[in-house]
Amino acid sequence: MTSIPASLPLRNDLIGEEPYGAPQLDVPVCLNVNENPYPLDEQVADSIARRVREVAQTLNRYPDREHVQLRQAFCDYLAHESGTRLGVEQLWGANGSNEIMLQIFQAFGGPGRTALGCDPTYSMYPEYARDTFTEWKVIHRRDDFTIDLDATLEGIADIRPSIVLLTSPNNPTGTNLPLEDVRTLLDACGRIQVAGAAEGTHPVVVIDEAYVEFRNPGTPSAVSLIPAYRNLAVSRTMSKAFAFAGARVGYLAADRGIVDCLRIVRMPYHLSAITQASALAAFEHTDLQLRRVAKLRETRDETAAWLKRQRYHGASLQVADSESNFLLFGKFDDRQKVFDMLLDRGILIRVVGPDHWLRVCMGTDEEMAAFRSAFTEVLSQID
Ligand code: PMP
Repeated sequence: MTSIPASLPLRNDLIGEEPYGAPQLDVPVCLNVNENPYPLDEQVADSIARRVREVAQTLNRYPDREHVQLRQAFCDYLAHESGTRLGVEQLWGANGSNEIMLQIFQAFGGPGRTALGCDPTYSMYPEYARDTFTEWKVIHRRDDFTIDLDATLEGIADIRPSIVLLTSPNNPTGTNLPLEDVRTLLDACGRIQVAGAAEGTHPVVVIDEAYVEFRNPGTPSAVSLIPAYRNLAVSRTMSKAFAFAGARVGYLAADRGIVDCLRIVRMPYHLSAITQASALAAFEHTDLQLRRVAKLRETRDETAAWLKRQRYHGASLQVADSESNFLLFGKFDDRQKVFDMLLDRGILIRVVGPDHWLRVCMGTDEEMAAFRSAFTEVLSQID
């Protein structure tokens, strides 16, 4: 809870707002914020310590504002991961993809502008919009959480947003957005004039690929469309599959023009020398950092199958198809009660997304066994 004296001239639209964030509770099993549950390998930790030691004595100086070495590392990683080689000027880093997204809203949103998304989706999007005085509008996803392409195209034509923001795989549902749909949306945006902007401007289409490494093998990334579309931006992060959430490193791949727009709004020296050194060290060990991704995919598929076999009020549970490291499952008459009963048993999951559904993030085998055992007990007591 916040404690803000009425005498403070907080912005009118922020009065009554609470800081965003899932509860950070000290419980044995945390499956609530879509982290990678596996700690870093010793070798990676040693490389980070070495690189940070190297920059420690230069901390009297500001870091490389353009973080060129790190942008080169993003390029090399994307070429390896998505099969598309971009230039350094097409990459841009920030403190988590949260900051990337805020910079996108700062550059392309603002008073009189609208950003459009498809809900249910990541709950931070309305906050970036609020903080940049951008209007946030949504088109509802279908019952299976896929986007309603026709309704979205209609929404784009009616609203003429400056930002179309879609998530693939989506949070909290795990739903993949087919590349064909991204292409259709990009083509449509190429024919739209943005409301409240100069003649000849088109919406920027942002695909948030925070969880993309967990997609089913063979699924292409939107990064492959960047060479063909100047209004496409793909946001990525090292927080999830790359097991680097604590370091706060996100990045964007896009046409150079979009990167140059973000360079206008970024804070000077926004990426500390320590952050840059840590990320470079982690990229020395890409394969080690990603070695549990296939395992987490397996855990997801096994957990989804197990959840679907569970019965609640005489019927099987529903589980949304997920290409991510988490599962949305339900539906529960009182999801808060299920959440609380799990928490009583030391398991922290997340109350998020549409009413009646809960989200659980994939943990280690031991953590998932603890989740299954606690959840079985909860179901037997609730029925
Ligand atoms: N996008 C999505 C869809 C997310 O779920 C998250 C984190 N939960 C983020 C972006 C931000 O992640 P980070 O700032 O750690 O890169």
